[in-house]
Amino acid sequence: MLFNGSKGGSIYSAPALESAMNKQEELKIESYEIVSNLLVIKWNDGQERYISFPTLREACPCAFCVVDVKDAHGNIHVMVSHTRTEASYQLIEITNVGHYALQPKWGDKHYTGIYRYELLRTLGDKG
Ligand SMILES: [Zn+2]
Repeated sequence: MLFNGSKGGSIYSAPALESAMNKQEELKIESYEIVSNLLVIKWNDGQERYISFPTLREACPCAFCVVDVKDAHGNIHVMVSHTRTEASYQLIEITNVGHYALQPKWGDKHYTGIYRYELLRTLGDKG
């Protein structure tokens, strides 16, 4: 997705670059920090992305926050079920889960959301 723009008629057809792109280097977080109400993530491809706490919290993938509801047509709708308060958007701390995810702890003591790197990267793309 990231390299769509350079596909095809690119003049930069250096073999080294091509192989680096094809390899699909595993997405990793080099470092992260909390700056005011933003989670700042430095990725191993040199990108730096910011995710606001509300964006992060609303994307909580845990079973308490997300309920898949199937309608009559068999389409799945994702519903947010967990009640939010102001404290819900205060990030208390964030911890590493293995080498694939981060687990934030929120002001309302909610901490069951495990955010995989792929998800965090998507959130960061939204700005
Ligand atoms: Zn949750």
